[in-house]
Amino acid sequence: MLSHRQLFLLNNAQTSGSPRLLEIEKAEGVHIFGPDGKEYIDLVSGFAVSNVGHRHPRVVQAIKDQVDRYMHVTVYGEFVQAPQVLFAQKLVSVLPKPLDSVYFVNSGAEATEGALKLAKRYTGRRKIISCHNAYHGSTQGALSVMGNDYYKQGYQPLLPDIEFIEFNSFRDLEYINSETACVIIETIQGEAGIRVPTHEYMLALRQKCDETGTLLILDEIQTGFGRTGKLFAFEHYNIEPDILLLAKGIGGGMPIGAFIARTEVMSVLKENPILGHITTFGGHPVCCAAGLATLETILEENMLEGISERAALFKQLLRHSAIREVRGIGFMMAIQLERFEQVEAVSSLCAKNGLIIDWFLHCDSALRVSPPLIIAEKEIRKACAIILDALDQCTGQHG
Ligand code: PLP
Repeated sequence: MLSHRQLFLLNNAQTSGSPRLLEIEKAEGVHIFGPDGKEYIDLVSGFAVSNVGHRHPRVVQAIKDQVDRYMHVTVYGEFVQAPQVLFAQKLVSVLPKPLDSVYFVNSGAEATEGALKLAKRYTGRRKIISCHNAYHGSTQGALSVMGNDYYKQGYQPLLPDIEFIEFNSFRDLEYINSETACVIIETIQGEAGIRVPTHEYMLALRQKCDETGTLLILDEIQTGFGRTGKLFAFEHYNIEPDILLLAKGIGGGMPIGAFIARTEVMSVLKENPILGHITTFGGHPVCCAAGLATLETILEENMLEGISERAALFKQLLRHSAIREVRGIGFMMAIQLERFEQVEAVSSLCAKNGLIIDWFLHCDSALRVSPPLIIAEKEIRKACAIILDALDQCTGQHG
């Protein structure tokens, strides 16, 4: 009989020639367990998803309660489903006042798609501006605004009228003009290897969009729900987006995304033609129930408290001659090494020693540190000891 690992390689479509092949039995809190009972500390959170920890009891209970009532009943936007209504209401209550209309979708990429369509439709303009090294998803519209040609080359033609600007460059804001429908930008760039823009830049970007009637789309799919120490990363900058993108962590481990705008903007999707965006499973009631429980849990359990102190502990402990820099904000960090080979060797050794760590799509010379927000000091110390030990072994340098 073939093992699960062999079957995975045989019947499951592969995305690369070198999958991790870690077999999972169970996950709980900050830990993932293999079939042999091996315990791993998770520093990746399923790529910024398990912010409240794996299988948070409140999220699990909300899912079970909803499954006992109903699962899918109809396409998005027709029936009144309490989990959708209550999750949207809760989201709106924690967002700046103008952002009062939530369109639920299935994923980050679909949120990007919906937002780009909305911006074109609302402004009547064609031009879209994105950033070099941006990542907004992998469907064709989202891929079109990806700031890395390597991943796009095999899929041309993609969307026309897209321009790329340098993230955090004042000079490039000049490209935004009265023909621009939207600027789509990650508030903190994730897959670029964690790039944090300055306050001045974000203010100037907001101002330029205002001056030119351009919609500002902030992609908070990776930063959303607390990863940076604030519920949303734009709170660090005193600016507000015209359209906000959420996914990943907002579902507490269930698949859901959303694009959020003011009603006046969003309402263009409902007429002339109607059904400006159609999604069968968007806002799935079980996912919305999980999302509501996730948001309530973060707020009621004060999960954002102490993130900056615990992030500082990572930075303090991660000192090694092979580490060039530890950068980031909150639990969205990158450990910059010199080369991919080091990153690859360190992450393999870490996995062997009970730690899950990875790298970034557009920056493979840095290790990704994005643990569940609940990670405790003891687990941080253990994780850092495993990383430093792996660095010693891989580089032959000590400390
Ligand atoms: N936007 C950002 C900033 C992301 O990091 C990601 C995924 O990594 C996406 C969009 C796409 O999300 P999804 O994988 O749910 O389509």
